Amino acid sequence: MKDDNSRNKILEVMMTVVIIALILLAGMNIIMTNSMRVQLAKLQNRVSNLETQIRGEKTSQKPSDESESDSYQGDQLESESAQGVEMGFVKDSDSKNQAGLVTNIDTGKAESTKDSELKGSEGTSETETKTGADGIEHLPDTIDSVLNIEPGTVLDESKVDGVNIGRYFTENPIVPGDEVYDRIIDKSYRPNEDIALEELRYIKLIHRNFDGKPQVGELIVNAAISKDIIEIFTELYLKNYQVCSMHLVDDYWTGDGESSDANSIDHDNTSAFCYRFSTGSGSNLSNHAYGCAIDLNPRENPYVKVHEDGSRTTYHDNAQEYKDNRSSATPHVIDENDLAYQLFTEHGFEWGGHWQNPIDYQHFQKPLY
Ligand SMILES: [Zn+2]
Repeated sequence: MKDDNSRNKILEVMMTVVIIALILLAGMNIIMTNSMRVQLAKLQNRVSNLETQIRGEKTSQKPSDESESDSYQGDQLESESAQGVEMGFVKDSDSKNQAGLVTNIDTGKAESTKDSELKGSEGTSETETKTGADGIEHLPDTIDSVLNIEPGTVLDESKVDGVNIGRYFTENPIVPGDEVYDRIIDKSYRPNEDIALEELRYIKLIHRNFDGKPQVGELIVNAAISKDIIEIFTELYLKNYQVCSMHLVDDYWTGDGESSDANSIDHDNTSAFCYRFSTGSGSNLSNHAYGCAIDLNPRENPYVKVHEDGSRTTYHDNAQEYKDNRSSATPHVIDENDLAYQLFTEHGFEWGGHWQNPIDYQHFQKPLY
């Protein structure tokens, strides 16, 4: 018993030091990156678990066998550590929301509160995690899912669950009659012999916009590369990589695949699937037609033709300043030092920036056929 008591005292002193350090870190949260927040939250959870273990030993001398868990356990997460998490997430939240956004976020919050039930029963509900509609425990007052939030919506940072970020990266089949099908039928998709609807996946995700804020985006890609795309964009989000916008090309539809793609590019929109011919060829199907190619930040990374005299031209007026300026010092310009380039190539994609002529800096593809 004596040994237990002195061990508990030492642990308590250690916990106090760690908690003070965590509170100081939480205070610095406004300058922390999202991945740092995730690490901090994990540390806080570990401290909480150790505290729970100490209390368990004091009262029953029974060790907890869950103390090594890295995931959030609602019954264990409480008191100082969870308040630290809340402090951090609330700190930079109270402002700057667009009107439409508040509505969406409020909806998300209301749904998550309604669809879930607060765990724990020690009268500390404001510090508990909760179980969302998807059955995953997460931080309180965060958005369960972006599935029902309009693409383009900017999210309040404090509503994004940085611990379970995977909940915001989802893929679903497209079924005749569903909402996505109704948006794309006879536009980016039409029945054909080259690509079946069942081979495509609708991906809903979040990305950092050009203001560095979390924004809802969407893509349609081939099912064979959907895992790659989710892994790549999760990593890009966690590393604060900025993407202007991610809407289906159908939102820019002007009557045919080629001109609609051009319209999407004119809006610096990142997109993937479109059943169309490849740019400039007029007769060969593009890898976009199979959902195996993606155009990333196309204004800053234009499709460039190189002429005999060495001059370079691009079709898009808003991209003129980027056709010759390929310095990675310029924001959003893709070169071999760029994180997106590195992630896409690690996943087996080819980069159009390596082509000789034309050069397509925005284009990554993983041909399947
Ligand atoms: Zn492309």
